Amino acid sequence: MEIDLDLLAYLVGKGMRHIEASVAGSSYLPRTVKGVGIFLLDRDGNLGVLTAKQQVTYEKFLKPLLFDVPCCGETGPKSCRGNGLVEPDLLLQGFREDDLRCRACRAATVGESTKQEG
Ligand SMILES: [Zn+2]
Repeated sequence: MEIDLDLLAYLVGKGMRHIEASVAGSSYLPRTVKGVGIFLLDRDGNLGVLTAKQQVTYEKFLKPLLFDVPCCGETGPKSCRGNGLVEPDLLLQGFREDDLRCRACRAATVGESTKQEG
């Protein structure tokens, strides 16, 4: 799986709140995760250059944000109309807009808001 570098750049920059949220409650510091993210960015997302410790940080906090983001559905994860995950190409937009929904759920909402009354 190739890392979406635009997405990673967003997460360690303007989107730090998403990293902070995922680190919350753990013994890790957001800046540790950010450091690994920037290190990866500087190396074009080449995971092979990470130390064992960095690898753990990546797997724990960055990978889930890059590849494994649950769809919030319309009223919660259980209401998802897709496979429960946000498609990778929708993640950057989703994080930016705080609208983490998969394609099927987005399409469903658009359909409903354009529905004619009566
Ligand atoms: Zn969904």
